[in-house]
Amino acid sequence: MNNRVLPVRPAVGGWPAAACRGADMKTFFPAPGDLATVRRALMICDRCPVRIPCRRYALDNRERYGIWGGLTEETRETLIRIGPPSAESSGSVG
Ligand code: SF4
Repeated sequence: MNNRVLPVRPAVGGWPAAACRGADMKTFFPAPGDLATVRRALMICDRCPVRIPCRRYALDNRERYGIWGGLTEETRETLIRIGPPSAESSGSVG
């Protein structure tokens, strides 16, 4: 990720309440193994009022890099791999 141009987040124009607005985007694209930066990004996402739409955007658009909606690349990969919860596993009673 170090030599890539950082992507523009929809938050810049579409989510004025985003907690990362104005933040250094490098925080959301940490170098591999930089757990301190990952934690810092997750703490910002944790207090963000648009965390859910941000997460949905990243999953729908298969964003491969960075932290979006409080999810790391690895977590998004896992969620995409296992798919959405079924009615059976989501705890709904029918
Ligand atoms: S959830 Fe995180 S990455 Fe998404 S807009 Fe909010 S602060 Fe930015």
